[in-house]
Amino acid sequence: MDYYSTQISNLIEELSKLPGVGSKSAQRLAFYIINMPLEAVNHLSDTILSARKNVRYCKECCTLTDQELCPICSSDKRDHSTIMVVENPRDLAAYEKTGKYEGVYHVLHGAISPALGIGPNDIRLKELMVRLQGDVKELIIATNSSLEGETTAMYISKLVKPTGIKVTRIASGVPVGGDLEYIDEVTLLRALEGRTEL
Ligand code: ZN
Repeated sequence: MDYYSTQISNLIEELSKLPGVGSKSAQRLAFYIINMPLEAVNHLSDTILSARKNVRYCKECCTLTDQELCPICSSDKRDHSTIMVVENPRDLAAYEKTGKYEGVYHVLHGAISPALGIGPNDIRLKELMVRLQGDVKELIIATNSSLEGETTAMYISKLVKPTGIKVTRIASGVPVGGDLEYIDEVTLLRALEGRTEL
C-alpha cells in the first residue's frame, strides 16, 4: 500500500483490523474520514474513546452497560424471577427487539467449547450461579443451537437441576448453527414460546 502516504496507509491498516472490514472497505472508510469535517471526526473519535472507557459489565446480568446496572436489571417492570441465559449482548438485543420478553437476562460472553479450550470458568457462569441463590423461578437457556451452545445448555442444566429451579431450553426451531442475532423476531418468539423443560 505504498502508493498512499504513510498517514493514509496507517489509517487504512488500523481500520482493516476491525471485524468485517476488508482492505477495500478500509480504504473507503479511510478516504471518507479524511474528507469529513474536522469537527465530525473529533466527535467520532471522542465517542469511540468514551464508549471504550465507560462501558462495563452490568453488576447483575453481565451485559455491557455504562451504568452499574443495565436498564433491564434496574427496571421494576421486568420479572426478575425469570432469567434468560444468552451467549452475548447481541443475542440479548435480538430478544429485546421482539418486545415480548418480560424477564431479565444473563449474558455469558461466550459458550463452552472444549475444541477451542473454552471451559466453564472462561464464561460468566459463576455470576449466574450467584444470582440463582436469589428468588428465581425459571431459567430459560437460549444459547445458540451450535455444538458449543448445546454443550453449554447441557452443562448449565446439570448444574442448576439440583437447586430445584425450573430449567427450560428454547425450541429448536432456531436453525442449527444459526446465530440468534440473525434470526427474525417471529422465529425467536416461536422458539421462546415453544421452550421445553430440561
Ligand atoms: Zn443487567
